[in-house]
Amino acid sequence: MRRCIFAVMGFLLLLSSPSVLFAEPLTVYTVNYPLQYFTQRIAGDHARVVFPAPADVDPAFWMPDRKTIGDYQQADLIVLNGAAYAGWVSKASLPRLRQVNTSKAFKNGFITVKDTVTHSHGPAGEHSHTGTAFTTWLDFYQAVQQAQAIAEALIRKQPEHQSDFEKNLAALRKDLMTLDLALQKTLAAKPRQRLFASHPIYHYLARRYELHIEDMVWEPDEMPDDQHWQQLRLVHESFPADWMLWEKQPLPQIAQRLDSMGIGIAVFDPCANRPAKGDFLSVMRENIANLRRAYTNQATSS
Ligand SMILES: [Zn+2]
Repeated sequence: MRRCIFAVMGFLLLLSSPSVLFAEPLTVYTVNYPLQYFTQRIAGDHARVVFPAPADVDPAFWMPDRKTIGDYQQADLIVLNGAAYAGWVSKASLPRLRQVNTSKAFKNGFITVKDTVTHSHGPAGEHSHTGTAFTTWLDFYQAVQQAQAIAEALIRKQPEHQSDFEKNLAALRKDLMTLDLALQKTLAAKPRQRLFASHPIYHYLARRYELHIEDMVWEPDEMPDDQHWQQLRLVHESFPADWMLWEKQPLPQIAQRLDSMGIGIAVFDPCANRPAKGDFLSVMRENIANLRRAYTNQATSS
């Protein structure tokens, strides 16, 4: 009799939650590393989250090959950055219903960048940053909204895991808002501090955290020519910044020459692609620590 009751109970359990027992983990493809990180944090074991770009490309200007586009097309969800990020997305035919545009909620707040120089970095060929600014996740509150959009899409796909997704989203939101607060505290030390940006990618960071930034279009691994140095010198006269933001540590000869002008290096890595070590959070913490040096010390102290 008892065995029979157990059998019935087991059967009922099976009926009540068939998808829990049989659901395959989702396959999710993303267009950059921050979105992969957010998605994996929220999905946990319930999804395999893939960002297939090689480590040495800027995902914003990367063009996947045909096979890789096929993999995106097969995925259960395709997590997009929106804000005109990853131009290939608008050229490939991706299944509409499986796309998640993570920046939709704040699209009315997109920043437009005007008249930047056409240039190239990495193997993707020439590009310019004119148009919609796309480094949305460097405003950590926008990053939270992107995470939220990912969670909603996962819940639509696997409502049986809603509580897991919500719990994981809450933990991620807490981490992102901790970064947000740390950055605000750091910058409050010198609200009028001016900064050069070596590349025009910090618009959302500057808006949320009220940074005063003047953009250059320089590359960390390419010595700027005389004309670029001349231009910097001119701007420096009316915009006396002591620090320059860099995506990564520039060449020693660049750092030295900046140092001779009294301009220090502050690396703030947007982390669009997989970091060599650590993860999204540790890279952002290091960025904030680098800025803290700029906001508490004098230049040329590095
Ligand atoms: Zn660029």
